Amino acid sequence: MTADGYNTTSNFIQNIINEDFETNKYGRQVHTRFPPEPNGYLHIGHAKSICLNFGIAAKNDGLCNLRFDDTNPTKEEVEYVESIKADVKWLGFDWGDRMYYASDYFDQLHEYAVQLIKTGKAYVCDLSAEEIRKYRGTLIEPGRESPYRNRPVEENLDLFRRMRDGEFEEGSRVLRAKIDMSSPNLNLRDPVIYRIMKASHHRTGDRWRIYPMYDYAHPISDSIEGITHSICTLEFEDHRPLYDWILEALGIFHPQQIEFARLNLTYTVMSKRKLRQLVEEGYVSGWDDPRMPTISGLRRRGYTPESIRSFCEEIGVAKANSMVDIAMLEHSIREDLNSRAPRVMAVLRPLKLVIDNYPEEQVEELTAENNPENPAMGSRMVPFTREVYIEREDFNENPPKKFFRLAPGSEVRLKHAYIIKCERVVKDENTGEITELHCTYDPETRSGSGSMRKVKGTLHWVSAQHAVPVEVRLYSSLFTRENPDEEDDFKACINPDSCEVLTSCLVEPSLARAMAGSRYQFLRHGYFCVDPIDTTANAPVFNRIVSLKDTWAKIMKAEQTKK
Ligand code: ATP
Ligand code: MG
Repeated sequence: MTADGYNTTSNFIQNIINEDFETNKYGRQVHTRFPPEPNGYLHIGHAKSICLNFGIAAKNDGLCNLRFDDTNPTKEEVEYVESIKADVKWLGFDWGDRMYYASDYFDQLHEYAVQLIKTGKAYVCDLSAEEIRKYRGTLIEPGRESPYRNRPVEENLDLFRRMRDGEFEEGSRVLRAKIDMSSPNLNLRDPVIYRIMKASHHRTGDRWRIYPMYDYAHPISDSIEGITHSICTLEFEDHRPLYDWILEALGIFHPQQIEFARLNLTYTVMSKRKLRQLVEEGYVSGWDDPRMPTISGLRRRGYTPESIRSFCEEIGVAKANSMVDIAMLEHSIREDLNSRAPRVMAVLRPLKLVIDNYPEEQVEELTAENNPENPAMGSRMVPFTREVYIEREDFNENPPKKFFRLAPGSEVRLKHAYIIKCERVVKDENTGEITELHCTYDPETRSGSGSMRKVKGTLHWVSAQHAVPVEVRLYSSLFTRENPDEEDDFKACINPDSCEVLTSCLVEPSLARAMAGSRYQFLRHGYFCVDPIDTTANAPVFNRIVSLKDTWAKIMKAEQTKK
């Protein structure tokens, strides 16, 4: 992959383009488009399509358009249009001045429909939706012709005009392409290309009482924009003969439709319909809930555009559907942040530790390197005092073998500071809960002082006097099943514990003014991002992006040793 994140590895789509170059099919032009329907927020699957369409155009010195497929007025909203634009930009792609709407072409689409009627290739059909379905036949049974199929052209023109003028009720008539009722491909059995819908459109208002079907509007929109390679997902393979038929029947510029496998992720649902249910039924806080696979959710969680682009690059483009392990997406953000996120100390479940032989009023400013993987990131000062907090789980009164953290009588190093020894445990008399540890420190062992003394464990900590209280949210997957789509009801396997909120966390003072959206590694806890929505000036909220346990790297390592 190149520094700008574009796809440079070869895939079967590039091979098709190379062949087209050789045969001069489109005069060495590559013009693609990303065509979202503005009926929901974009998700990680769309990111794959965006990276592919914009990437392949960039690689071949071509262009990529952004086109809103807004042919269904009842489901679409302006809010979605705006979010889609923001998401594509955030991913790092630029459509220049080529942002279009299928609704820009409603006049042209209508004229072409009239042309199809005039050439005997389309007719107005009075069958109900139910009847059309019955007449269509099945995969093993040919369809039957509609009794209206052979209407004279004049009558079709008149009825279509009156459909347009709003004379008829919704569902009473449709315009159908006249293709072949016995075709083995159901999509070619006189598909509906226009329907009556008395709905207001977000851009054309009440001007239209008929709206084109997606399968009709899409090839024509592609053709009008001079798209050369119309890349779509596999389920449209069976629609390609219809795509081709429409362009042939009209005799207009003919883009090549190419299908690729859609992205599926484990423990995730991707369909906008299901994501909308999660939002509308309150299972999540919104489209941008950090647990959502939406671009806005991933952004809020703390994913970077670079990590998403490199993930899309890694998964590649194939012709067969498959399921990608969510661990691979998590791996991509760890790889990205490893060398660029500052490493800081945060205590999520604090336990007080008093260093009895440390002067009471003393504050030492200790030097802490920001990222050992990236010395250019420099260092910062961290205050050290007599009272600090450590992680509750880093102390064990009855330590098992090989417990290298703190235990009665044992020694550990406090990161960037001194070696300490646990002398005494204080407990709540009533509950028996450990409330405080008393320790001593060895003044000769300050980090960076050249002390040779070594101990096995190193703990992160924060100075009690300087610590900043924050809220931390730890996420796990939204579903308990690997493939929620396979369940009868995907909502039955929603994980009730997908968000754990910790309200008494303490972070080092350098994070007091952490900017919304900035990312850190909390030593031993993972990568975190300052929540841009719920953070207030006095109460920072941190989302955990991922833990440090890279299961994908482990899987890859195991694969390699097998080979
Ligand atoms: P959904 O089923 O989630 O509603 P869609 O295909 O109806 O998705 P569109 O807005 O029509 O959503 O999709 C815009 C583009 O993104 C299309 O070209 C579509 O093929 C592509 N796309 C959608 N989902 C995925 C996915 N999971 N993987 C790859 N590409 C996708
Ligand atoms: Mg769709």
